[in-house]
Amino acid sequence: MILAIETSCDDTCAAVVTADGEVRSNVISSQGIHDAYGGVVPEIASRHHLERCTAVVDDALRRAGVTLDGIERIAVTQGPGLVGALLVGLCHAKALAAVRGLPLTPVDHLQGHVAANFLRIGDREPFAPPFLCLIASGGHTFLAHVADHDGFTVLGRTLDDAAGEAFDKGARLLGLPFPGGPHLQRAAQDGDPGAFAFPTAAKVAGLDLSFSGLKTALLYAVRDLGEEEARRRHADLAASYQHAIVETLAVRVERALRETGATRLAIGGGVAANGPLRERLSALGVAVNVPPVELCTDNAAMIAAAALHRPGLPVGAHLALDAYPTGTLA
Ligand code: ATP
Ligand code: FE
Repeated sequence: MILAIETSCDDTCAAVVTADGEVRSNVISSQGIHDAYGGVVPEIASRHHLERCTAVVDDALRRAGVTLDGIERIAVTQGPGLVGALLVGLCHAKALAAVRGLPLTPVDHLQGHVAANFLRIGDREPFAPPFLCLIASGGHTFLAHVADHDGFTVLGRTLDDAAGEAFDKGARLLGLPFPGGPHLQRAAQDGDPGAFAFPTAAKVAGLDLSFSGLKTALLYAVRDLGEEEARRRHADLAASYQHAIVETLAVRVERALRETGATRLAIGGGVAANGPLRERLSALGVAVNVPPVELCTDNAAMIAAAALHRPGLPVGAHLALDAYPTGTLA
């Protein structure tokens, strides 16, 4: 069994996963405090991780019905993310591994989002490579070819904002709280997605994408409507904006499926929790793996999943590990 720790942003996460990918526990402690600032404050995030990490790890072990005696390996997110936040999880993992004499596997957070698809969910077998994968999160958005369990090749990526950022910034323009994605999805529920024709970056060639024009289009639409009318048409604005993000992503996925001949698609990252996106991609006519919402947003089970297929570093070798704030995609 693997015990995994993830502290790359504002959620303190720990999970226990078996060697064949079954999630025994997946504890996520969210730091509600950042809502007041409209975004994550790095220093506050680190302090909260420090206060909560031990309790979250204990909780994950308890819920899995094991003690540290039953754990054979530790996995931890090494980067990318907020460096102070990452260091709390990394130091915790190193200390546990050193004291217990256990191997430690450092995991890339984005490989973690991909690896959420490798987990066994109920009766469903793990989704095995090769597949095309769309990762759309708060800091990254890219399409990748996943040939095996150990990495991925990027086929296209956002040229500016991540899809999650587009959700968060759009939500802010509409006066919705942070994080914007789930709030905007809720606000859009009774709106007409065709009410406003927002741009879907159709002109961006190949498999890259862009969200900057979309954000500006929403800003202008709100300004042109005027305060009162914008309030009255709040649901339509939200639904149309969400529709544009979903289409921007879906059109690239369709293009990539056509160009690569891939017949299997997986998704991951916080935006993969979005209902309309899940529905849109599920109707593409290929085998689509849509992980449960709690495995799309940040969690430690996905970090364990990535570690399942990698060796652990022996005690001594892992003490020198350092966190990295930006990844190869930055
Ligand atoms: P990264 O993984 O790139 O380092 P992150 O870890 O901060 O970034 P995630 O936790 O994977 O990002 O995703 C958070 C993002 O997902 C936020 O931008 C949030 O608004 C978005 N999100 C969460 N739920 C939904 C939803 N239902 N609809 C749309 N977006 C959503
Ligand atoms: Fe993430």
